[in-house]
Amino acid sequence: MSFLALQFDNPFTTLLPADSETLNYPRQVHDSVYSSVMPKKTPNPQLVAVSDDVAEMLGFSTSQQQGDDFLKFFSGNYVPEDISPYAMCYGGHQFGHWAGQLGDGRAINLTQVNTLNHGSQVLQLKGAGPTPYSRTADGLAVLRSSIREFLCSEAMFHLGIPTTRALSLSLTGDQVVRDMFYDGNAKAELGAVVCRVSSSFMRFGSIELPAYRKDKDLLKQLVDYSIKHDFPELVIEHQANEVKRYLAWFEEIAKRTCKLIIHWMRVGFVHGVMNTDNMSLIGETIDYGPYGWIDNFDLNWTPNTTDAQGKRYSFGKQGEIAQWNLFQLANAIYPLIAESAPLEKILNNFSKHYQQQWREMMAQKLGFHSADNTLKEQRNEGDEQLFLELETLLSEVETDMTIFYRLLADFNYNDVTRANNIAHFSDCFYQTEPLSSEYQERFSLWLQHYAQRIQADNIAQSVRKAAMNKVNPKYVLRNYLAQQAITLAEQGDYSQLHELKNVLKKPYDEQVAFHHFSEKRPEWARNKAGCSMLSCSS
Ligand code: AMP
Ligand code: MG
Repeated sequence: MSFLALQFDNPFTTLLPADSETLNYPRQVHDSVYSSVMPKKTPNPQLVAVSDDVAEMLGFSTSQQQGDDFLKFFSGNYVPEDISPYAMCYGGHQFGHWAGQLGDGRAINLTQVNTLNHGSQVLQLKGAGPTPYSRTADGLAVLRSSIREFLCSEAMFHLGIPTTRALSLSLTGDQVVRDMFYDGNAKAELGAVVCRVSSSFMRFGSIELPAYRKDKDLLKQLVDYSIKHDFPELVIEHQANEVKRYLAWFEEIAKRTCKLIIHWMRVGFVHGVMNTDNMSLIGETIDYGPYGWIDNFDLNWTPNTTDAQGKRYSFGKQGEIAQWNLFQLANAIYPLIAESAPLEKILNNFSKHYQQQWREMMAQKLGFHSADNTLKEQRNEGDEQLFLELETLLSEVETDMTIFYRLLADFNYNDVTRANNIAHFSDCFYQTEPLSSEYQERFSLWLQHYAQRIQADNIAQSVRKAAMNKVNPKYVLRNYLAQQAITLAEQGDYSQLHELKNVLKKPYDEQVAFHHFSEKRPEWARNKAGCSMLSCSS
């Protein structure tokens, strides 16, 4: 039997050990990797938004999406007899410290399904009630954080960045009490459920937990499962040598993680809580909590108020933290490898690859054409300096990162008037008073060097511009835009939510009618909750 024409398939629960306790209460779960749990029924479910292309990927017709079965299933109000929802058990390092068992405290996997063209996908409800991993919390999510998850995961996908997807967003009809800044100002908010979709929700922390518990059998089962299910090419490549297979798996995770962070740096995304339980083994962006998007370029910026002191997860630290997290994963799988040198080598290579890919990414952002190998080395050296000087300039006076790069694509060097060159960029500066003459001097010098560099490439301005506009988005989910959509949605007006959802499908296109969504952060949003300050409370 199947439901909504979905092809159910559940290797995770069939092949891996289950928690023998079936009652739903908070506890430590040993010797098993998941617990069966039913989503909570909700009084008045209401569908707010659906991602058309995730729906299409899963094979839902428009009429199915509008039907009652769809809403009941994806709000957790109906569970077909032949599936058995479950919460996953994992641990993690939070803010640099081992936190023990965490697990899906507010996520319940409904089932895995086989799709026609997109392999197998797991359907997961976020905010569908408590699980054995909820500890003292309620397992629920509010509309505010669910809109942020829904919009951002879809925006990320359309930017070309690996991510979990979001199929649907529903209101539950429940009121959920939240103290947004943990300061004694609790208030009732609207409850909501997002259905997230990914081929795997396994995290670094899924592997760390059995390792910390010295349960080598379970550790091996999980790694073997991840390889077989998510990295099947490694089984064929390293059939005879298990240790080599594990190392290849770790190396591939390191590679994917590196690529992911480079993408985040390219578009100005700050995850905000890069704890190891929020790091996906398949290299996707996962767990959209107190994330933020860079408005003014600032490597020290973190949107997460919980991290305001330490700034562990600030924009510029994401590469370093990813490596730290990989180090924890390496420690966890050490018992399967029994040799540290090959693991260390992969970790050291991470820094090398990161540097190299960062340079390539910056070259693309700046529209450099690097096909000319004869001059490449010489240019790389000069290029690196251009990149670093640019970062200094962008940080010194508040400069909107996204707007700057779009303006740069349109820049035509005018060596007669320095003022004209600088005036071309006036839209990306936040300060209203004139820039100091010293700053103008340096900015102008940088533009001159940049102009020389692109002239050496000898490619048509239109070609350079098109290439740059493919890597420098015009539209990102600016923090204040998401907050505006939330404020309206909380009053029952979903217009901005839908507009943003549509505009962010084509983030690199001009879309003139929506130019206002590309404008820099307005002054009122500078220090406003939800726009620049977010907490883990969701
Ligand atoms: P996060 O910071 O969102 O990655 O969450 C860290 C841990 O806290 C995970 O194990 C979550 O499942 C759990 N958690 C966060 N919020 C809730 C909630 N409202 N109810 C239950 N568990 C939660
Ligand atoms: Mg999490």
